[in-house]
Amino acid sequence: MTLLTSPLPALARDIDGKAISALVLDEVRAEVQALATQQVFPALAVLLVGEDPASEVYVRNKLLRAKDVGIRSLEYRLAQDASQQQVLALIAQLNADATVNGILVQLPLPAHIDEQAVIHAIDPIKDVDGFHRENVGGLVQGIEVLTPCTPSGCMRLLYETCGDLSGLHAVVIGRSNIVGKPMATLLLQANCSVSVVHSRSRDAAALCRLADIVVAAVGRPQLIDASWLKPGAVVIDVGINRINTDTGTRLVGDVDYASARTVASAITPVPGGVGPMTIAYLLKNTLIASQLQRTTLPRALAVI
Ligand code: NAP
Repeated sequence: MTLLTSPLPALARDIDGKAISALVLDEVRAEVQALATQQVFPALAVLLVGEDPASEVYVRNKLLRAKDVGIRSLEYRLAQDASQQQVLALIAQLNADATVNGILVQLPLPAHIDEQAVIHAIDPIKDVDGFHRENVGGLVQGIEVLTPCTPSGCMRLLYETCGDLSGLHAVVIGRSNIVGKPMATLLLQANCSVSVVHSRSRDAAALCRLADIVVAAVGRPQLIDASWLKPGAVVIDVGINRINTDTGTRLVGDVDYASARTVASAITPVPGGVGPMTIAYLLKNTLIASQLQRTTLPRALAVI
C-alpha cells in the first residue's frame, strides 16, 4: 500500500527535508572521499555581488555545507557598483580555471547588471544552478545535464515519500524558470501527468483539487489551503515568505500548513522542508559537474 492509497491519518505527516537532505549530503561526502583517493578534489566557486543581507546568509550557508562534505569552496565578492564587465571577466576567469568545477552566481544581481547575460556567460558544464539555456534545453530533451537544485530536491522528497511516481497527477503552481518549469519537466520525466497552474489559470483551486501531488512555487504567503487539496494529496511547499506577526516576523510557505495538513497525507513544513534540499543538490551538482568535466572533451577539442 502506498502513501497515496493508505487510510488517511487525522493529520498529514511532515516530509522532513532536514533528515532527507542529510542523506543527500552523506552521499555527496562519501563520493567526495572516494574521489580524493584518485587525487580529484571538486571545487565550487560562489560569487556574490553587493551586500544584500538575505544573499549573504544564503552564500554563508552554501559555503558552510560545502565545507561539511569536503567540497573545496572559493568565495568571490564584488562591490554593489561592480560593472557587468567586471562580473563577466571574473566568470571568464573561473570558466578557464580547470580546478574550478562549479560556478554559482548568487541571485538577484544588482539592477544595473543583466542577469541573463551573466547566467549565459557561465560554461554550461560548470553551471551548478542549471539555469544556462543549454542545460534547460538538455533537461527538456531528457539528456544528462546540470538540473536546477530546488526542483531536483523536491523530486527527491517525492521519491522518499511516495516511491514510484508513475501515473500520478501532479499540479505545479507557478511557472518560473528556476522552479515551476523545471519541476514540471522532472515530474513528466517521472511519468506523472502534469498540469501547470499560474496567475492566468481559471479556477486554480479546482485544478489543484485533481492532484495527487501539489508543488507550490508561487511566492504568495499561505495561498493554498485545505480547500485546494484532494484528500490524501502529497504537498511540497517551495515558498519562502516572511510575514509580520504580533511579536515580529516569521517564515511561511505558499501553503497554509495548519489548514492543508488536515486534508493532505504528507506535507513539507516551512522552514525545514524544501529549503535544506536546495543546498544539498547544489553540492550534488558540483560533484556531477566534476564528473561531467572528466568524461567530456574540452570544448575547443569537441568542435574540431
Ligand atoms: P516567481 O518567479 O515569482 O514565480 C511565481 C509564479 O507563481 C509565477 O509563475 C506566477 O504566475 C505564479 N502565480 C503568482 N500568483 C499566482 C496565483 N494567485 N495563482 C497561481 N499562480 C500564481 O517565483 P519563484 O522564483 O518560482 O519562487 C516561488 C516561491 O518559492 C517564492 O516564495 C520563493 O521565495 C520560493 N523559493 C524557494 C526556494 C527554496 O530553496 N526553498 C528556491 C527558490 C524559490 P505568472 O507566471 O502568470 O506570473
